[in-house]
Amino acid sequence: MRVVVIGSGIVGSSAAYECAKAGAEVVVLEAERIAGGTSAVSFAWTNATTKRPRPYFDLNVAGMRAHLELKRDFGAAPWFTQTGSFDWRTVPESMDDYFENFRQMKEWGYGVEWIDKKLVAEMEPDIDIAAIGDCPVSYYPEEGWVDPVLYSAWLLRAAKERWGAKVRVNARVTEIETEGGRIRAVRTADGERHAADAVVNCTGGWSSQRLGDAQGIPLSSTIGVLAFTPPVALTLRSQLHADDLDIRPDGAGRIMIHKVSVDLTLKKPQPLSPAGEEAKTLLEAAGKVLPSLRAAGVEAIRTTVRPFPEDGYTCAGAMPDVAGHYMAVTHSGVTIGPQLGRVVADEVVRGKIHDEMETFRPQRFFQASATRAAAAHA
Ligand SMILES: Cc1cc2nc3c(=O)[nH]c(=O)nc-3n(C[C@H](O)[C@H](O)[C@H](O)COP(=O)(O)OP(=O)(O)OC[C@H]3O[C@@H](n4cnc5c(N)ncnc54)[C@H](O)[C@@H]3O)c2cc1C
Repeated sequence: MRVVVIGSGIVGSSAAYECAKAGAEVVVLEAERIAGGTSAVSFAWTNATTKRPRPYFDLNVAGMRAHLELKRDFGAAPWFTQTGSFDWRTVPESMDDYFENFRQMKEWGYGVEWIDKKLVAEMEPDIDIAAIGDCPVSYYPEEGWVDPVLYSAWLLRAAKERWGAKVRVNARVTEIETEGGRIRAVRTADGERHAADAVVNCTGGWSSQRLGDAQGIPLSSTIGVLAFTPPVALTLRSQLHADDLDIRPDGAGRIMIHKVSVDLTLKKPQPLSPAGEEAKTLLEAAGKVLPSLRAAGVEAIRTTVRPFPEDGYTCAGAMPDVAGHYMAVTHSGVTIGPQLGRVVADEVVRGKIHDEMETFRPQRFFQASATRAAAAHA
């Protein structure tokens, strides 16, 4: 079976790896560089906390498990760090949700415990414990993070070396060709034609685009902003999450900082200055928790699209427009990616349908628009 995967981010590289492993002849077509889209600008925290409803929580937990299994498959996973997360709140209005989430996660069997602040200070002496206030701290030992660009590099390299997959960069797909309602081939901007029995569309924040005979899905994507400090002499190993703030190590002493409220100030991805207002806000917030960051400044600040299917949930499954067209797009793609890759390979290559994915099918968007059109007509 010939499978073309469009996009080489964490989702596309997972799909390509698993489809090649399942015995398909795989070609990956990437418009720009490997994993250079959203996957290159992601906080990349592997977690299922706060993820609701239950099928979405389960999918994220399956993703976390799949990361561990991949690590075992490769013997080592230079892209994966599993050092746990601390979480707390300082804003009184968010306390009820915080306690309710802890209760819900416990009930669903997720790894979370209350942890004594003295132990937090011993584990992470760089934290100013006073910044936590009176709130109890929760600890999630099984959470971690991924370097998504390295992940894609390793998986695509393995897919090439082990099973002969082909990977083309600077190969923007412009058209999916069909015959009698079935996929026949994929064409790229440079005029190449790749014959295909199935196409897996892993274009993330670009998956609303129409590609020739094949349509996209409706998106409600938002913008993400991350700031990076220069190397700082800290020994921080865990991730820190507090109200509207996420902090984690990013290698070689660099610290990555994120605030949803800064994301919300932007309408589109755009270059930002490390000396600008957004960087200042991010550094100031992180500096309250890790005081040694204050003097460090921000070295880089990056923005990108956060890919959200219109209703916010994962979209995975056969598209209703063209036989052989399969969509795999999601937020939380770093957590879910390796599991999504397995689902794609089972459904596209092995013909084994995952019933637990029923709520995530693309069909839901087309049903909604057909109903809207019928209502407008009436
Ligand atoms: C600030 C921020 C924080 C985040 N935090 C987390 C987190 O903590 N945990 C988590 O799990 N997720 C997180 N996410 C979401 C996660 O990063 C994404 O879900 C994931 O990276 C999406 O991967 P992807 O492979 O679907 O998309 P991408 O990485 O964007 O890959 C899509 C690829 O398709 C290519 N492409 C597009 N059109 C074409 C075409 N016509 N032809 C060929 N190629 C094409 C693009 O060039 C791109 O390389 C975060 C995102 C952001 C922005």
